[in-house]
Amino acid sequence: MSQNNQPSRYDDSNIFAKMLNGDIPYHKVYEDDKTLAFMDIMPQAKGHVLVIPKQKAVDLADLQPEYAAAVLATSQKVMAAQRQVFDREGVIQMQLNGAQAGQTVFHYHIHLLPSSIHELGRHAVTQADSDELATIAKQLAEAIDNQ
Ligand code: 5GP
Repeated sequence: MSQNNQPSRYDDSNIFAKMLNGDIPYHKVYEDDKTLAFMDIMPQAKGHVLVIPKQKAVDLADLQPEYAAAVLATSQKVMAAQRQVFDREGVIQMQLNGAQAGQTVFHYHIHLLPSSIHELGRHAVTQADSDELATIAKQLAEAIDNQ
């Protein structure tokens, strides 16, 4: 993970840092040299994916431009896959900055939700079935491979 411009407020023990270090498992959708995309374990919609930079950024304020570009490029791939797999155009892009905004994991991430703002489930409350997440992750990964 990039050490450049590491903000002193970044906590290396956050859950996404542990994923990037290979310390805890996750259902991977896509990975490249600057980003990782995986299934949200407490989805607010079926197919809820998180995209993170391999940079120690707490929120948008810390994100280096090259990682911002990379995270958006990966988000475009994921959204195209979601549109194909779930056969729907509508996908929400969401990103929270700071606990006051409701952020709960302090490593920058974009939420991509195949849903409507009027139908979203509650934020980070109900854990999904792991087998179902694995199946969706595989479908999305295959769709990205075929892009
Ligand atoms: P935030 O509140 O920071 O915008 O979003 C954090 C997201 O991370 C939530 O949607 C929550 O469900 C998800 N999350 C929290 N812990 C884990 C975990 O251990 N694994 C995965 N895959 N997602 C997590």
